[in-house]
Amino acid sequence: MKRKIVLFTDERHMEQANTKLKSFEQDGRMCELIIVKSETNYEEILTGLSVGTQVLICTEAEEAQVIQRSALSLGFLHDDIIYMSSKEKNPRVFCSQCHFIQRVDQKIAFKCRNCSQKILPSDHYSAYHHAFLAYPSFQKG
Ligand SMILES: [Zn+2]
Repeated sequence: MKRKIVLFTDERHMEQANTKLKSFEQDGRMCELIIVKSETNYEEILTGLSVGTQVLICTEAEEAQVIQRSALSLGFLHDDIIYMSSKEKNPRVFCSQCHFIQRVDQKIAFKCRNCSQKILPSDHYSAYHHAFLAYPSFQKG
């Protein structure tokens, strides 16, 4: 039997989450959508899930971190928790020079708001910082 999926999302990411949900259902998976609100008790929801349930998270990175931590503390495996971040509109970028994290519109070279170094976001996503790492850019302009 295929494993059940629980998808955590918030109002901002609902469209993306629904698209994903439909593709899982077409694949014959049992899915449950949980709309996250500020008063949502993750532990309570996660405790009620059966062993082997997959947890998908489609929220802001900050919120995802809270859900992930809560799931891990309840015995869920790292492999069972999937964070969908690729379609994030304003990716978080980690400045390798001063370690400041800021949101950007596009992944192009820009001046760090904190240290003024011109940096270029890479495709290297740091799960620890929940941000793309950015390195000094020496191109002119
Ligand atoms: Zn910086």
